[in-house]
Amino acid sequence: MAQKSKGKGNDFEVIIIGGGPGGLAVGSMLAKEGVSSAIIEKNSTLGGRYRSVDFCGARVDCAVHFLVSLEGAAEKSYMYKFFSDLSLPLEYKIIPWSMGRVTKEKPGKIDFLAMDPKLGAANFFAFFAFAAGVEPEDSTKKELLKMADICEDMSEEECRKVVNVPFSDWIEKNVEDPMAKLVIQNMGPIIGAPVTEVNFGMVANSWRTFNISGAPLIWYPKNGNLQNAVIDPLTKYYTSHGGKVITNRTVRSIIIEKGKAKGVRVSNDQNNSMLEEYSAPVVVCAVPIHEAVSKNVLGRQFLTKDWAEAVKQYEKLSVYDLSGFYLLRKHVISSARGWVHIFDTDYGIPTYVGDVCSGSFINSVNEPPGKQLVCAMIPGTLEETNFGIPARWDKVMEAEKRWKDAVEKAFPGFNKAIEHEGRNLQLNFSRYAYAVVPKEIDIQSPNIKGLYFGGDSIRSIGTPMSDKCFQLAFPICERVLDYLSSLK
Ligand SMILES: Cc1cc2nc3c(=O)[nH]c(=O)nc-3n(C[C@H](O)[C@H](O)[C@H](O)COP(=O)(O)OP(=O)(O)OC[C@H]3O[C@@H](n4cnc5c(N)ncnc54)[C@H](O)[C@@H]3O)c2cc1C
Repeated sequence: MAQKSKGKGNDFEVIIIGGGPGGLAVGSMLAKEGVSSAIIEKNSTLGGRYRSVDFCGARVDCAVHFLVSLEGAAEKSYMYKFFSDLSLPLEYKIIPWSMGRVTKEKPGKIDFLAMDPKLGAANFFAFFAFAAGVEPEDSTKKELLKMADICEDMSEEECRKVVNVPFSDWIEKNVEDPMAKLVIQNMGPIIGAPVTEVNFGMVANSWRTFNISGAPLIWYPKNGNLQNAVIDPLTKYYTSHGGKVITNRTVRSIIIEKGKAKGVRVSNDQNNSMLEEYSAPVVVCAVPIHEAVSKNVLGRQFLTKDWAEAVKQYEKLSVYDLSGFYLLRKHVISSARGWVHIFDTDYGIPTYVGDVCSGSFINSVNEPPGKQLVCAMIPGTLEETNFGIPARWDKVMEAEKRWKDAVEKAFPGFNKAIEHEGRNLQLNFSRYAYAVVPKEIDIQSPNIKGLYFGGDSIRSIGTPMSDKCFQLAFPICERVLDYLSSLK
């Protein structure tokens, strides 16, 4: 039976479930406004997919390894705006994208392709030609450029209107050249799911930046990793402005009374044998929404029928997303100037298997010196596990094992160091933001007063990857302040 924990510190104005970038962003913003809040985090440290782990004396990023991509200027990102609002420094460096390819013909050797921002969207044809080993015809290039132009001209509002149009339908109606069709339909590594299950709005939104930025520009922390650059300063800000961090506690349910949020029920073990209650008139669920729903933290009844359908779509899409990143920046944290995606053509079509960080190759395309390996894995090298193709779980496991064995050979102990809940990091990416949704979800529960959603989801069309967490913090903070003052 749930016990109401006594004592100061269990009653707050706001409770935030999850201490990832979403939870920390909302928490810090509310703390700035003098609102009393607590972040409840199931792990022993904050950071979510931005957290670092220790390996071989190095701090290693877990999942996320760059801040925001596909933007022409870091200053345009919400993360940058957010840090400025809090008067916190955010030092970054911009790194143009490069790619490497490993082929069966040249085992142990990496061929590199460095992107040239001046080439604009044409970089992507170079990329596909490089990865696939086939140069597209001029007519195909023309059609692909046409598509980049269409996307560039679409406003965020227009993108928003077509989040319920499957990309496959759009291609059928708008792309004539058969080769261009084939190329687009097989853009698995970029879209991460079958074109039938991703919406055109999000695809267009990402692609509209291709012409603008010229090539994906990767915005890296200037020093250290994401934990140092983002999580630690936000945690410090949050706690020094009165926020309370409660770790090693898993929220099991949200307490609702008469249609209003009243707090959360929390356990500190797997068996729910020790349940505590924390009360607050506002609860912000800052766990990616499909995860929160599938794990019953967020009851489906707190959503409308349309929204529940939309979340089902995210859940479905996250199955296709098989990425699990291992990153090792032993030597590269301060010296790296670039990174590269490695393609392993061992099993036929090129497959994204990892990242390598290195020093000198970005501008003078050289093989990276020394053992500066940052490895990541997307188990896509076996039949039925390919990125973008519906996967069979046993095949995924087989691919993962193959990759782990290879990593273990190169870096004994690495797999263990990054082990997380019995699995190697997350087996899903933020691709669910591309799901074809019947309706976009708002930041606020439609039927429960005081319940807000601050974790990753499709709510923010115009913003790539985790930058949307920072975007959402602004309106959530505004609405929470309004709601709290209405209660007084
Ligand atoms: C492999 C991978 C690579 C990625 N790479 C990038 C990248 O390079 N750049 C980028 O911008 N974005 C990237 N993303 C996307 C980015 O990770 C997400 O957009 C971002 O982390 C979402 O933040 P969040 O706070 O909603 O969720 P999370 O980061 O997942 O944080 C949620 C937190 O809630 C906690 N939690 C969950 N359930 C409970 C519970 N019941 N009780 C208490 N706590 C709970 C978790 O432990 C976690 O700390 C990547 C994602 C993945 C999976």
